[in-house]
Amino acid sequence: MAIKVSQQLVTVYAPTHVSKIHIEQWLLSKKEWVAAQLHKQLNAIDVQQHPFKSQKVTVFDKPYTITFAKGTRAYVQQSDSEFIIYTSKRVKKQLEKRKQLLCLALEEMLTNYIEMRLAYYCQQMSEALPTKLTIGSYKRKWGSCNSRRELTFNLNLVGAPHHIIDYVIVHELAHLTHLNHSSAFWKRVAKFYPDYKLASAWLKNHGATLQWVFDN
Ligand SMILES: [Zn+2]
Repeated sequence: MAIKVSQQLVTVYAPTHVSKIHIEQWLLSKKEWVAAQLHKQLNAIDVQQHPFKSQKVTVFDKPYTITFAKGTRAYVQQSDSEFIIYTSKRVKKQLEKRKQLLCLALEEMLTNYIEMRLAYYCQQMSEALPTKLTIGSYKRKWGSCNSRRELTFNLNLVGAPHHIIDYVIVHELAHLTHLNHSSAFWKRVAKFYPDYKLASAWLKNHGATLQWVFDN
């Protein structure tokens, strides 16, 4: 038998011949483990950012406030600690539009930073610049790269400190030489980013805090 705990829902998988009472007893014997999983997942949910509800979003490890305003057209006015999101009264799906505008502004900030650092690290690592840079929303990866030298980075990285983003950049650039996680790959990462273990642990421990939930 097996238990799955996901999104605060407990599912038990059992063969058809097993009686219900047996399943219940078995589940009861696992209740501490189930409770721990539920608690862990609840905490994971809590750490995500709610940019619209809290009217705050973290950019490069710094808090920015978010203000909504009405305008004749949709755009974002941005300073070094604030986003003012203007939408027109006529727009039906305000939440969707605001999300789209904010994500676009964040994407631009992340792209600018990554382009600058890519240029620096490509020179350090004697690599030609990547053929393509894509910023996107991904559930399970911070970055990726392929044999066509196309690099992808997760938009949520925009909330991380600069040195953490640098680690992801070096990690992906090292993949241009080693398309695997062999010891030769890690040696190359370590050569250009000695603190890679700390940065990788930071992403494991704080990665969830970079995720956004757009509700209001
Ligand atoms: Zn990798």
